[in-house]
Amino acid sequence: MENCIFCKIVRGEIPSKKVYEDDEILAFHDIQPVAPVHFLVIPKLHISSLFEVEPGHQAVLGKCLAVAGKLAREQGAADGFRTIINTGRVGRQEVYHVHIHIIGGPQTLPPMIVWRGQ
Ligand code: AMP
Ligand code: ZN
Repeated sequence: MENCIFCKIVRGEIPSKKVYEDDEILAFHDIQPVAPVHFLVIPKLHISSLFEVEPGHQAVLGKCLAVAGKLAREQGAADGFRTIINTGRVGRQEVYHVHIHIIGGPQTLPPMIVWRGQ
């Protein structure tokens, strides 16, 4: 996708701090980390969101998840981490190229989402 920021990172048109790369997936540090460890794992193939996932995407998405634990450990989240995939407006997705946030570090993370609606 021409104007997708993460596709530009895949193509090397925008710099990133790479954590891992192979022919199908890429992991790089989030530009605005919310914890000592915060990186993103993406398929190199452009998939806008989990809403657009098709059966043929299963293997590459599985691969994104499969590397998470090893990479998290290597990055300093050896005692645990949180994986987040924001989807669509309600999920407050900002970049429409599927990505898994890997968030952690030495300290325990805050509790899960607290619902503040009616
Ligand atoms: P979201 O779509 O809400 O799951 O979040 C998108 C994430 O991408 C945010 O945490 C941003 O800080 C991150 N982000 C946006 N642009 C870049 C970039 N050029 N390099 C690394 N991370 C980025
Ligand atoms: Zn893209």
